Amino acid sequence: MTKNNSYDVIIVGGGVAGSTAGYLLRKLGFKTLIIDKAVFPRDKLCGGFVTLKTLQLDKKNYGEDIESLKKKKIINYITYDYEINYQNTDPVFRNTEYPFVFVNRAVYDDFLLQKAKYVGIEVLEGETIKSIDIDECKVILFDKKSDGTLNKKSKGREFKSDFLIGADGVNSRVRQEFWKKGLFNQKKWNRNLATAVEVYIDRKDLEKGSFLHPIFSVGVINWGFAWVFPNEERIIVGLGGLNRKNKGNFIKAIKNWISQLNLNSKPIKIQGHPVPFGFPKIKPVYNGRVFLIGDAGGFVCPLMGEGLYMAKRTAEFVVTAIYNNLVDKKAIEDSFLWSLEKYIYSEIKAAVKLRFLFFNIGKPFKYKLTRYLVKKIMLPFVELTHGERSFKWLRKKNVNLLELMTPK
Ligand SMILES: Cc1cc2nc3c(=O)[nH]c(=O)nc-3n(C[C@H](O)[C@H](O)[C@H](O)COP(=O)(O)OP(=O)(O)OC[C@H]3O[C@@H](n4cnc5c(N)ncnc54)[C@H](O)[C@@H]3O)c2cc1C
Repeated sequence: MTKNNSYDVIIVGGGVAGSTAGYLLRKLGFKTLIIDKAVFPRDKLCGGFVTLKTLQLDKKNYGEDIESLKKKKIINYITYDYEINYQNTDPVFRNTEYPFVFVNRAVYDDFLLQKAKYVGIEVLEGETIKSIDIDECKVILFDKKSDGTLNKKSKGREFKSDFLIGADGVNSRVRQEFWKKGLFNQKKWNRNLATAVEVYIDRKDLEKGSFLHPIFSVGVINWGFAWVFPNEERIIVGLGGLNRKNKGNFIKAIKNWISQLNLNSKPIKIQGHPVPFGFPKIKPVYNGRVFLIGDAGGFVCPLMGEGLYMAKRTAEFVVTAIYNNLVDKKAIEDSFLWSLEKYIYSEIKAAVKLRFLFFNIGKPFKYKLTRYLVKKIMLPFVELTHGERSFKWLRKKNVNLLELMTPK
């Protein structure tokens, strides 16, 4: 192994979590490598709903706001209305208080990875991992033959680092190594898994002027919800729910949802992907040197299924923990877990409790009391965790990670 293959930090996965961590690490001067199996821009099945508090992180870290992202065509769609309903009937709420912002993940993720490349991070795309050693923070990649296929006989290319970050999504290869060492319980992880399925419908196949605002609908799937998210050129019709409460009925459920929306005559291609959707109770740090962030660590809101914010936040936390450890000699594990406990687990636990209420009240919109509960509990929670209030709170606090981390 040459000195060139030696890094301060290696990040497996260059999605939202990985590129955010890479960008911040490089800005702090760490020699960092991102390895991704895909070549960007790559598709990522997602609703592309970006909450205001997520956009606030983009402002803080990249100096990009809604206006600049719109100008650069990174934001695909903005609307000020939204609707929550029961099986596409009895809409309970629509308002114009704050914008709902949508991106195409192929475009957004590529934009963020380019930001990381721009500050000088090294990125290897289209690579296949041969092995990972989490004791040694070592990753070996398969060599490729001249025709592009894997050379399974060669030793491969070895990369070593002081720290290793698993940001490689819900089916994380790095997390597999945690499992091999008995560091987490696969059964518990599986108990908290959901499936989300989606269909894209071109606007040219829709009536002009239809589906201009997002719709969130309950009663379509058990322990989950259905949605319609508008884009400029298409709409995204989807749903997601806990696997153990739905017994594999996702295809049937999405077909029902499509028919409730009167869209069954449209050409559809159904795609699905797992989502961590609960409190997986894994300890996403090993040895003080290996970390899981984003979907790899199970960090998704178990009520709304929102993962972009937590992917970015957990990326910030790991960067802070590494920095504090190297500069101030602070115990890395404590710092990372403290941040998770304070900002992420508290939200996940509250959402798990609330969803019991929200996903279980029968036909919630039919009864005065449940409509009242939705308005009084559900909507303030959604606003607090995703909307204007947390936005204001962050603004008031004027949190700036890089400023905080820059030595005085
Ligand atoms: C259908 C659906 C709809 C969703 N809608 C929303 C939404 O509207 N808003 C929202 O906030 N969240 C949404 N989510 C959740 C959100 O997509 C995820 O939480 C988010 O993408 C997590 O980011 P990440 O960087 O952790 O992982 P990912 O975005 O999954 O990125 C992981 C990266 O790691 C790479 N990788 C994977 N395995 C390997 C490997 N072995 N070697 C190298 N590289 C590897 C992948 O190529 C990928 O680039 C949705 C999820 C689904 C499934």
